This record gives sequence, C-alpha cells and structure tokens, in this order.
Amino acid sequence: MTLNKQHRWPRLDEPSIRVMQADKLRRYLRDVVLPYSPHYRELFRAQGLTADDFKSLGDLRKIPFTSKTDLLPTSEKPQRFREFVIAPDPRELARRPKTITRALLHGRAQVQKELNDEFRPKLILFTTGRAAEPLPFCLTQHDIDNLAEAGRRVMEVCGAQLDFRLINAFPFAPHLAFWLTHYAGTEFGALMTSTGGGKVMGTEGNLRLMRKMMPDAVIGVPTFIYHLLHQAADEGLRCENLKKIVLGGEKVSDGLRFKLRELAAELGAPKVDVLATYGFTEAKMAFAECPYPHDQQSSGYHLYPDLAIVEIVDPKTGEPLPPGSPGEIVLTPLEARGTVVLRYRTGDCIDGGLTYEPCPHCGRSVPRLVGKISRVSEIREMNLDKLKGTLVDFNQLEHVLDDAPHVGAWQLELRKFHDDPHEVDEIILHVQKSDGTDDEELAHGLRDRMFNHTEIHPNRIEFHDSGEMRQLQGVGVVLKEQKIVDHRPKANSVATNGNGGNGNTNGSNGHHKLVTSP
Ligand SMILES: [Zn+2]
Repeated sequence: MTLNKQHRWPRLDEPSIRVMQADKLRRYLRDVVLPYSPHYRELFRAQGLTADDFKSLGDLRKIPFTSKTDLLPTSEKPQRFREFVIAPDPRELARRPKTITRALLHGRAQVQKELNDEFRPKLILFTTGRAAEPLPFCLTQHDIDNLAEAGRRVMEVCGAQLDFRLINAFPFAPHLAFWLTHYAGTEFGALMTSTGGGKVMGTEGNLRLMRKMMPDAVIGVPTFIYHLLHQAADEGLRCENLKKIVLGGEKVSDGLRFKLRELAAELGAPKVDVLATYGFTEAKMAFAECPYPHDQQSSGYHLYPDLAIVEIVDPKTGEPLPPGSPGEIVLTPLEARGTVVLRYRTGDCIDGGLTYEPCPHCGRSVPRLVGKISRVSEIREMNLDKLKGTLVDFNQLEHVLDDAPHVGAWQLELRKFHDDPHEVDEIILHVQKSDGTDDEELAHGLRDRMFNHTEIHPNRIEFHDSGEMRQLQGVGVVLKEQKIVDHRPKANSVATNGNGGNGNTNGSNGHHKLVTSP
C-alpha cells in the first residue's frame, strides 16, 4: 500500500470524492469488470451499456442492482458464483500494451508475478448471515492488500497506537471478521495474537492470555467479549492497560456499551472506548466508529471513498436517496478483483443515512453511515436465527432431531449463560429415549449429529422420563408440543445506536418470537 493512499483517504471532501469516484468507476469498468467479469460483461451487453456511459457519479444508477439471490446456485447453474469472479484470459492480458511495456522495463517474470498477484484467487472467504447456504468469495493478493489496508484504517479510526498489544478474539473461521482483524494487525504493525474466541482456547485460555499479555485492546463478537470480561471481573483479574473494546459480527446496543465500560472499570480500566464496526464479506472490508465522549453519541461508520462507493437507496423502489435519508446500504467496490459484485444490496438499513459532514469527533471528512442498522427483510421469516453466532435453520434442526435414532421425544431449550441477556447463548437438549440405549453413547451421537448438520454444539444433553418430558413440552397444557423453547432474557436497553457488524447483524431483538410450536 502506498503511503499516499494511507495518508490521503481521511482528508477528501465531498466534491473531490464525487469526481474521484466517477473517474475510478469508469476506469474500473473499462479495464477490469467489463473485459473480465462473465456476469457483468453479459449484463452490460444486454443493457447496451459501456464504460463510457459513466461520466458522473449520478450515472452509477444505470447499473442494475446485484443481490445475494443473483449468486445462489440454480439447477441450470450450480456454480453461479463463478460468473462473478474476474477471470482474464492470459493470452489477452499478454497482448495488453501495459503488459508489453512493463515486460520490456521489468522483465517477463516480474510482470507474470504482478498479474498473478492481481488476478489469481488465493483466499476464499464465505458470506454469513444471509441465507442457509454460505457463498464463497474469492480474494487475490491485490484484494488481500486492500483487506489489510481496510483493517489498518479500522485500527486508525479506532485510535490504536503502534505500541498497543491486541487480542483478536473472533472465532477462527473463513469469515471476514477474523481475517480482516488478523491483517489489520500485521498491516498496522501493532502486536496482536488471535485466540479463535471461546471455541479453541475456552474462556479460561482467553483469560490466561489476558493476564499474561495485559492487552490495550480486545476485539471480537459482542456476546463473547462481554462473557470474557464478566468472567475476568468475577475472578478479580486486573487489566489496567485496556483502552479499546472493538466489536463486530453482532449488534451493539447502548446498554451493552455501558455494561462493557462498567466491567472494564472493574478490571481497573475506567476509560475504555467501546467501538462497533460494520462490514461484510461481499465488501471485503469493514468500517469503524471513532472514539467519542461517553456522554455523547457515536458519529457512525467511517467509509473509504477511494475503495468503494456506498449508496443509500429506498428498500422498496431502489431509488437512490439524498444524504441523511434512512435506507438500504448498497456498495460498489472500486478496487476489487476475485469475486466482484456491483451495486450490491446488503439488505441492511441504516436509519440516519449517509453524511458527508466532517466528523464531529475526529474531524475526518470521509462519508459516514450514521445511526442504527437493521435488516430490511425479516430473517426470522425463513426460520433462521443466530445461535452462538452461527446461523441456524430451525426447520432443518427439527428434522435432524426428529430423525435421530433412539430418541422418543426431545426439546431444545435456548438460554443465556447466568440468565444474563448480554451473555453467550446456551443450548440444552432435553431427550426422552425410545429404548434402553446407553446415555453416554446416545449423547455423543446426538452431539455429532447436531454439529454435522448445523455447526452448533449443545452445552448439555439432559435425559428425562416420559412424565418429565411431557411436562417440559407442555403436552396436555398447550395445543402443540413445544420442541424449541427460547428462555433467553431480552436485553432491556431501550436505545440502540451505531450497531451492526461484520458478517451481518442479527441481534438480540425479538428472540422470544422464536418459540416455535411445530
Ligand atoms: Zn470520526
């Protein structure tokens, strides 16, 4: 990444941003997307559009939207996502005047390396939270460089210092949050270690590391970070160095911010900034809040106008909306290779819209997304919800348990650890056996079965006789047996602000509706 890019991005103003973005968009369409994207080449041809049709930023609306459903496999095209991968013909690249000139100046080997870095996919991340089936997104070295730069900017906006020690507690997974944070650390140059969250080292392992490392910042999923700090406070751990808590992947309510600051104070760090990020795999980047006085509101997510164009559109009509209007977030990358989607509809609505006003807290003049983020389409309609940060299809889960051998009746109970609404989810599977199978053996088999189909592990499996089971299921009391019950207390914070996060948020609102009686 050039020094120029690192230092200029926060200082651009609205008129120069609009000129720069229109110019970059035209060149990006002409040099990268239209020649090498099978999907957009065809789409532009069908619409009678060429790169020259994009003279000002207002012309962006000529491009039809792309949404997740456009990438989902169909029976005729089981590998549809491949049509969105930038895939130049090597012979065509070799004939480009630019390639020939560079080969003369720097030699063929160097040019070949540059082309590989730019176009050859070398990392696959998966989308989260949108549909039951995650979609692969390819990144080339060029994309990884930009991912690292976006991560570095998150660190910069959050106010990280070079001498910081950081803990990345995002789960090890092929998702944006973990890798962006990893590359953010290497690009920024501060000392970072990644724990993989609770799954790999357990809460105890994370706490041991906090004790040893005395981190200046911890980064992770809100529920896990809350759980971690809660345990730390219970154990009397001191962490006076802690200055930043950076969150992604789930909504961050004002109530949670307050509680996290309280917990940090108990650890001996009373001045901690709790900052949210918003990002998603399809963008290959995330945006952050800057630190703000604790009696004021967050100024929103700071965008990178040189890397992507963010529009706000009416979720019903698709009409682009002026600054300050609430609407759906739509993103068009300007630098992406690998998998590329243009005018990508996120399905996320922001209630304060987009603003070009300089940030009241940090003074950066980049556009910002202001306010609360929520889903346009209610995800629960599809019977999907997030459990332990993993998206679970309850219809599928029901079939999996109904079809399990040796199981007569079952009930899945969702709780929160310590019955605390900000804590991690707990899953208890209640089972009545249909035969004399050994408890241990059956429990083991059920754990494997659940994990293989839904990627979640129950915290406990409890066995009951038929009387207890009837009582649990409310048989004879309610009309239909209750197979999945949600006993998670609801967070009582009224206001939520600046929420959102990596990997698309689906926060804790309305979980109680989930009590399904099949
Ligand atoms: Zn700011």
